[in-house]
This record gives sequence, C-alpha cells and structure tokens, in this order.
Amino acid sequence: MLKGIAVSNGVGIGRVLLIEEKSLKYIPKTVTDTDTEISRLQCAIAKFCRKTEKQAEALKKTTGESEAEIITGHIGIAKDPFLAEETEKLIKNGQCAESALESVCDIFISVFSASDDDLTKQRAADVRDVKKSILRLLLGIEEVKISEAPKGTILVAKELTPSMTAEIVKENIVGIVTETGSTTSHSAIIARALEIPAVLSVPNAVDILKNGSTAIVDGSEGIVINTPDAAMLESFSLKRETLFKERKELETFRGKKTVSASGEKYELFCNIGNPDDALAAMEYDSEGVGLFRTEFLFMNRTSFPTEKEQFEAYKRAALILKGKPLTIRTLDIGGDKPLPYLGLQKEENPFLGFRAIRYCLKNENIFKTQLRAILRASAFGNIKIMFPLITCIDELREGKAQVESVKKELRAEHITFDENIEIGVMIETAAAAVIADILAKEADFFSIGTNDLIGYTMACDRGNSSVSYLYSVFQPSVLRMIKRTIECGQKNHIPVGMCGEAAANPLMIPLLISFGLTEFSVSAPSVLSVRKSISKFTKQQAEEITQNVMNLTSEKEIDEYLKTVI
Ligand code: PEP
Ligand code: MG
Repeated sequence: MLKGIAVSNGVGIGRVLLIEEKSLKYIPKTVTDTDTEISRLQCAIAKFCRKTEKQAEALKKTTGESEAEIITGHIGIAKDPFLAEETEKLIKNGQCAESALESVCDIFISVFSASDDDLTKQRAADVRDVKKSILRLLLGIEEVKISEAPKGTILVAKELTPSMTAEIVKENIVGIVTETGSTTSHSAIIARALEIPAVLSVPNAVDILKNGSTAIVDGSEGIVINTPDAAMLESFSLKRETLFKERKELETFRGKKTVSASGEKYELFCNIGNPDDALAAMEYDSEGVGLFRTEFLFMNRTSFPTEKEQFEAYKRAALILKGKPLTIRTLDIGGDKPLPYLGLQKEENPFLGFRAIRYCLKNENIFKTQLRAILRASAFGNIKIMFPLITCIDELREGKAQVESVKKELRAEHITFDENIEIGVMIETAAAAVIADILAKEADFFSIGTNDLIGYTMACDRGNSSVSYLYSVFQPSVLRMIKRTIECGQKNHIPVGMCGEAAANPLMIPLLISFGLTEFSVSAPSVLSVRKSISKFTKQQAEEITQNVMNLTSEKEIDEYLKTVI
C-alpha cells in the first residue's frame, strides 16, 4: 500500500496509465535565417495558444470559470511581451528558437522559484509547463494523449501539470496519483472539481505502479493499492458504491440555501489557509469564508511576509469570493503553531504563553503591517477582521485601537479601504466565553473556536494523546461555554458563528441550531454534508434533543444519547 496526500475524495478502481515525460533534449543550433526562426517560434506559440484556448473552453463547461482561468493564465505567459522581445533578441543573435525560448523561460523560472511567496512560486511551475508545451511543439514531440485514455484509467505521473489536467475526460479517468503536489496545487483543485479521487505526493509512484496494472486510489484516506487481491477489490468496490451514493445525495444540496427543516436560514462558510483555498470554498458551494488562518502565509519561510505579499494574498482571496464574506484572522502563532524566525524564548507552557493576539499587541510593526494589508484588501471585497485568543476586554480594545490607527495612516495616504470593516472576536478560551457578555458589547461578531475552547476549558492540550479522552466538545462544561457565548451574542444583537471542527460534527448540529448559532464555518469538503445535516432538523426537534442533552451530566452519556437520536 502506498501513502500520499488525500486531495480529492472517493475511491477509484482501474488500470494504470503512466504519463512518462518524453525527453525534450535537442542539440542547440546556430541559425542564420533569423526571420524564419522567429516565425517558427511564433507559429509554435500561436498553436499553443489555440490549443490552450480550446482546453479552457472545455474546462469552463466541465469544471467552471475559476479552473479555466488557470489554463488561460498560460496563454498570458506565452504571449508575454517581455518573453517575446527577449527570445527574438536571442534568435537575432543566432540562437535557435528552442534554446532562445528555454533561456528566457529559465530566467522567469529562477526568479519566481526564489520567491518566498507560494503564489509566485506557483508561477514558476506555470512557466515551466508553458515552456515544455511550446518546446514539444517546436521539436514535433507527440504527447501522451490523456484525452484518449480509455474508460477506467488511473493517471500516474511525477507531476500533473495544469495543461495535462485540462486534457482529462471526466468519464474516463477514475483516479489520479502523482509524486508531487498538495491540497492546493492546481491538479488537486481540478481533480476535486472533476470529482476524481486523487492522491498526490506519493513517493516513487511512477516506478512502483506499472502501466496497465490494476490499482485502487482512495482519495479520502490518501492511499493507493497496487495490484489488489480479490478481497481488497470487493471491499473497496463496496466503499466506492457507498461514497458514490452519499455524494449523489449530497449533490442535491448544491446551489441551495442552508435552511433547517422548519425554514430558519443559516450561513455556511469555509475555513481556508491560503488564498487558493478560496477557490475550493467556491467549488464546494460555500457562502463565504468564516476563517482565513493567515498564519500559513507566515510559515515555511525565513522572514515575515511583506505588506505587499500579504495584501496580494488577501486581495486574491477577496476577488475569488466575488463579494462573499471573507473573515481574516490576524496572526495566530505560538502553541501548536510555532514560527522559528520569531526568535522567541522557549516557554514552559507555550499554550498558555506569549502567542496570537498577545504577541501581536506587543509587536506593533508586525501587527500593523498585517492590518494595513487587510484594510487595503478590504477595498476589493467583503472583508472582516477577527482577533484570536482574546481573554479580556483590554485585548479587544487595544486591537481595535491599532486598527483605528492604521485606518488613520491609510486615510492620510489617500488609500481606499472599507471604513466600516467589522471586527470580531474568536471565542476560544474559557475566559472569553465567561466574559462573552462584556465582549459582545464591543465586538461586531463572535466566532467560536471549539478546537481551542475544548482544550482551554478542559485544561487539556489538544495534541496530547494521553489526555485526549477529556478532549471532547460533548463535555457538559464545553457545551455550556458554547451556549453562553451564543446567548450573549444574541442579547447584544451580534452574529455568532463557529469555525472550530465541531461545526461540522453531525451530532452537534441540533445543539447548535437550538442554541441559536447563525454561521457555520467548516472545511470545504464538509459544506454539502453540513447543509444536509442542518436540513434534517426542525427548530423544535433540535430543541427537544438539546433539552435532553443539557440534562445529562457526563460526556459519555451525551455522546451515547446523540448517537441514538441522530
Ligand atoms: C479553533 O481553535 O477552534 C480554531 C478554529 O482555530 P485553530 O484551529 O486555528 O486554532
Ligand atoms: Mg484556535
């Protein structure tokens, strides 16, 4: 069994088609008829653009506009005036079209690859993809025709480039396996949009999986089984059928409003970790983003992202969401989210230490840089600001004062932003839940972060398996924290959402409906199933269940009871 990253749910059983890269090696020639050489290159570029436009048109029909944009971006690269000018210069100096194109593209690739910004790095992959496609046309090399793959094919490649993914015929491809990529790579986004089970970053997949052999791709678990035996084939066929039925049923909830059986309306948002995840939020039909965990923009790098880098990221997410709400949480580092370049002292109890809003309020430059980026991006969409780990009113007041001071700076610089931007608070500490009545008077909204709220209420580290038996949202103490928070929000007429994992737990749905939660923010693949869960209960049914739950005294009793009624 091979393991990788599960990026697109479902089970696929089929025959392996290896996409082996043909060598693009050539012997560089010196050319004398430079005009003919330039027109040879221009012909190849024109052919590439025509082919890509066709692919984009096809993609628009099968997966939608945003996926097609990935491909149309490639046309922009091929037609880039700088690229044309520089390649033509090199050809005029006697280089052949292949080597001129390669030299100029490689400059772009090395500049983009050196960037710390993930989006810019992704541009390097795009240029590489465009370069290879045009080189193939110049060299007359036939590509493996993914579009002609027979029914029941599992595509296996080192890397599946956007142009390869654009060739996929949804009905014929039952699985995708690659050696590179992650949840947010283009191939993952397209695989999800096409609903093809996919497992990426499987080490040595190309060497292990043989052309024509049978394999199973489990895109929910992130596993690939090479030449499965009869028992495995039977059990995975069964799983495939069950998932297929569930998915078909869930599809009936796409494009629908999120309403309970008695007609109350709810907002259903997504949690995201980078701007491209906003594409997934749209793909999965969410109504916006309830939590943008910005700390991911600060990770896997050696220094803080600049205001410009952050601005571009927030703006991109806002534009993708096309006016739907985008709640951006300010930097939440420390505890389970270390950031090596902060150079912080080692702490005895990092979960109780100098982290999140505490760190930001004491590091004005870093905080203000982020706030400037968020406020500037607010001119491009419906952005809200949210502070993590609030424990007392002073933190909220100080945070808001910093926002005001940044607003003043931007006004002086004549930079536009949303003057009425909302500022909310994450309720993820016991302290915040207990003073929710106080906080609600000065916050525009609450979002309950159950992942931490459980830990801070039960005094148990969310990552420590020795105390995981205590870590449950069904602990009566945690349920009371949630109930109280929602009630305080209601009394003060501010919306209360939940962005912790508990928001997607089907057993929690009736309780949350009955407490009066109005917004659910969940991971993208959970959107339709949460919409379905909400649709099952009338307010009255939810209230009856909740009343019984609140009369029970232990986590075990509550869990068992809920499992019998849901
Ligand atoms: C939470 O604590 O519930 C939450 C959503 O934040 P994170 O998981 O990022 O700590
Ligand atoms: Mg948290």
